[in-house]
Amino acid sequence: MPRITLSKSNFFYNLDCIAKKTGSKEKIALVLKDNAYGHGLQEIAKLAYEYGITKAVVRLESEAKAIENYFEYILVLADRAHSPSQKISYTINDINAIKNFAKGTKVELKVDTGMGRNGIRLSEVDEAILLIQKQGLQLEAVFTHHSCADELNGNYETQKSNFEELKKRVPSSLRFHSCNSAALFREKNFSEDMARVGIAAYGCLEMPKELADIALKPVLSLYASKNSSRTLYEHDRVGYGATFCSEKSCCVSNYDIGYGDGFLRSCSNHYETPEGIQIAGRISMDNSSFLSQKEELLIFDDASQAAIFAKTISYELLTSLKPHLKRKIV
Ligand SMILES: *Cc1c(COP(=O)(O)O)cnc(C)c1O
Repeated sequence: MPRITLSKSNFFYNLDCIAKKTGSKEKIALVLKDNAYGHGLQEIAKLAYEYGITKAVVRLESEAKAIENYFEYILVLADRAHSPSQKISYTINDINAIKNFAKGTKVELKVDTGMGRNGIRLSEVDEAILLIQKQGLQLEAVFTHHSCADELNGNYETQKSNFEELKKRVPSSLRFHSCNSAALFREKNFSEDMARVGIAAYGCLEMPKELADIALKPVLSLYASKNSSRTLYEHDRVGYGATFCSEKSCCVSNYDIGYGDGFLRSCSNHYETPEGIQIAGRISMDNSSFLSQKEELLIFDDASQAAIFAKTISYELLTSLKPHLKRKIV
């Protein structure tokens, strides 16, 4: 069976680095959406609890309910409140959505400071706050999200100054948060109420050296087991489309991981494992072949590196890993 291991010591190391930036564990809101970036919602929630993290961020209410016992506060990014509780805050992403929440529900107002995706326009914030009060909702915080926190262009500064301006004209009793992983690490003096940290906790934050010199440790490793081995002779072919052709006699084995498990098909024909083992041919739904005889193969232990082969980012590679894969904390 393919399997995932999660390194507790690497995860805690990353959380130490993050806590150094936020100033305390209490200011870390760990982002656990999409099955904790493929790491496993329950596994990561449990580890975070053990470390002393009290805040979490998820996409759906169902995710919040599944981990409610581990945290004191959970922010739901994009869902309705079907059964609100005092621990859960729901995001208002659109002024028209305010009416969908029942009186007494805890909410946070997401403001679009320049991302152009979700959130209330800056010009609509006063109206939104009035509507929230009229509806009898408990407004807890105002927050925003950056589009370019990991990029060397001016957008980050523009969004940041938009948010700073906004803070001055809304009630100061509200909490404020704007930082994802990249924004937190590029900030010199973080002073907000919390930071919403995802990829950094999983050890795959990448950003230009000019912005932050970081060396976090990847938490997740993916392994596959051998189904079968064979000797290839010169000009033998392997897999769908017969795209691999051996130049000389060699040994190839088939392993039990494929795109049905989340091993992205775009890694076909050119993937190389961290141990330098070459893939042979295309990735199939449930298996893939490598020039190896090992019983168990490390597919990757650093999603950022593996993502390069798939021409994507660590986020997509990680969240592609299916929930059915066995996850074990080591
Ligand atoms: C996913 C997400 C985050 C976390 O981003 P990272 O880059 O993984 O730290 C923070 N805030 C919001 C609104 C998000 O959707």
